[in-house]
Amino acid sequence: MKEIKDTKDKCTLCRKCVGICRKTVGRKAIIYVESGNESATLEFISERCIACGSCSYICSDGAIIFEDIGDTRVITTPAGRMEFKLKKCNKCGYYWAPEKQVKLMAEKANLPLAYFDLCPDCRV
Ligand code: SF4
Ligand code: SF4
Repeated sequence: MKEIKDTKDKCTLCRKCVGICRKTVGRKAIIYVESGNESATLEFISERCIACGSCSYICSDGAIIFEDIGDTRVITTPAGRMEFKLKKCNKCGYYWAPEKQVKLMAEKANLPLAYFDLCPDCRV
């Protein structure tokens, strides 16, 4: 099967993903760049992205695709592919959330990172 490198042809430049990343997630990882000749592109800044998936859920054009493959979350966007490590549950071994997202949750909730050693199913 041929690997999809980007989803540029699907993107309508509606900017819903830009808004949700900025306003709801608070990351500013997607930038709408105007080129001056009435065309524009999206830029995805992987250093800011926590691989949360919100942009994919809100994109009704299928232009942001998430896949969890083993220990890696692959995100295919109109600007190309990004890869992020997933966190493994210490009990059942399931890769349950992106490491960057878990780290941010721990910071925001003022909890030690070890609090997230188990996946939600094993925590109950
Ligand atoms: S990726 Fe989806 S949500 Fe984002 S601008 Fe393109 S079509 Fe809109
Ligand atoms: S996956 Fe990344 S780019 Fe998409 S909303 Fe979350 S932080 Fe933003």
